[in-house]
Amino acid sequence: MMGYGHWVDGSWLEGHSGERFERYDPANGELVGEFSLGDEIDVNRAVTAARTAFFDGRWCKQAPSKRARVLNNVADGIENAVVDLAAKITKECGKPIWQAEDEVRLVAEMFRFAAAITRTQAGSVYDLGPDVLGLILPEPMGVVGMIVPWNFPLGTLGQKLPFALAAGCSAVIKPSELTSLSIFPLVSILESTGVPTGVVNVVTGAGATGTALVQHPQVDKISFTGSTTTGRSVVRNGADTFKRVTVELGGKCANIVFADADIDAAVEAATVAVFFNQGEVCTSGCRLLVEEKIHDEFVEKLVRYTKTLQVGSPLNPDVHLGALISKEHLEKVESYVKLGQEEGAMMVCGGQRLTEGSLENGLFYPPTVFTRVNSKMRIAQEEIFGPVLSVIPFRTPDEAFEIANSTMYGLAHAVWTKNLNLAMKAVKNLRAGTVWVNTYGQDFAELPAGGFGGSGFGREMGVQGLLEFCETKSVQLFLNGEGVVRFP
Ligand code: NAD
Repeated sequence: MMGYGHWVDGSWLEGHSGERFERYDPANGELVGEFSLGDEIDVNRAVTAARTAFFDGRWCKQAPSKRARVLNNVADGIENAVVDLAAKITKECGKPIWQAEDEVRLVAEMFRFAAAITRTQAGSVYDLGPDVLGLILPEPMGVVGMIVPWNFPLGTLGQKLPFALAAGCSAVIKPSELTSLSIFPLVSILESTGVPTGVVNVVTGAGATGTALVQHPQVDKISFTGSTTTGRSVVRNGADTFKRVTVELGGKCANIVFADADIDAAVEAATVAVFFNQGEVCTSGCRLLVEEKIHDEFVEKLVRYTKTLQVGSPLNPDVHLGALISKEHLEKVESYVKLGQEEGAMMVCGGQRLTEGSLENGLFYPPTVFTRVNSKMRIAQEEIFGPVLSVIPFRTPDEAFEIANSTMYGLAHAVWTKNLNLAMKAVKNLRAGTVWVNTYGQDFAELPAGGFGGSGFGREMGVQGLLEFCETKSVQLFLNGEGVVRFP
């Protein structure tokens, strides 16, 4: 059996309580590993290591050019280990192996971009009079607690860690209790490619471990990705110690197809938008808004295409959907499908757990499509986080935007149209951190992502993603002795 402790100051540490938890492969029920259940003492050890590493300057005081070199080495190391890292993600997460490989490559890309922008960090200078300069300097925040979810175990971390390291911060990472395996080969890569010992630490565990990290007085910032419910408690628990917090939360994204769009392209993209990663994606295109004129034709093509998607062993490279993450989560998805039927939506495909043949020991659910969905139904308002699509017809652009903006979330929306004016109108009217036009779900390291409303606050990626890990320091520099302020 594979047993893992915490990774603290460059060494494996057995957890203080000795308590462990197990994780099983959701595709076949095999044991993935046994992990230490971190408590407050484990968190404190990791924070102390990160804090020591921060204040002695072993990372943050290195020249940006040197940090950039290391971050590029990390990117190389990740690219060389795509196969191993992806295999571990798929084992613990159940996602198709080709998607896990793409996830790992994207993490490498984030390190590559972070390496580039660490050398461009600059403040500004004001000329405040003869011999008086005002400087505005960005400084690393210090110790960052990173709490990540299970749906992209390394992908979500990849939107935080490279940027925090580029800023000069140290880190304590708390992976999801459902996906604690793939982080360990990643920290080995960090160690072997030149990130100094103690700068990145890992404490495994569940919600209580996360809470201990959020409440720790010597953690300067919490960068959290997870559900909106947990996000609320992170913000509350961080308040006592004035934690800087960013929260990347849930979504209920709208994928809007206007009648003039390239229908065949939009059909294929709409299925990927919602069924990628089994729909376990914060930006899943789970609400498909189709202009009434093309609705029936579009739905017919969509259902036909959806029925060709393969669900099965995530190690099979031809599979489109792997296993859902856990039994509890599968039951949640099932309960929403039941709810959709009770609410009066029409289920046109899927809707029944798959247990035949090789799928019998796994948690497999087919792509499921509801039509005749009304935007007020709970299936159109709440995050299901599974392979369930709600199709909602609309008549006018304003109606489409109103439906899109009608949930508590505001993470991302998409529009499909060849009309540039209409596209720009959508961009202006949609309330979300990202708007895609004639595409869906792509990430670019250059572009910050984050939420409006209940999808959270703060941004990840882009130059803004680095600045989220910086404090601002203003400096007044008097060069001629005239800075002395006297009583009259
Ligand atoms: P979750 O909120 O249950 O857990 C996320 C992490 O928080 C886990 O590591 C968990 O152990 C930890 N945690 C749980 N309770 C905690 C507490 N009280 N204090 C501190 N940490 C705590 O979310 P999940 O089920 O792992 O992930 C799915 C959710 O994540 C979905 O809602 C999805 O939309 C969201 N998500 C958002 C983004 C984004 O960028 N906006 C990306 C991926 C996932």
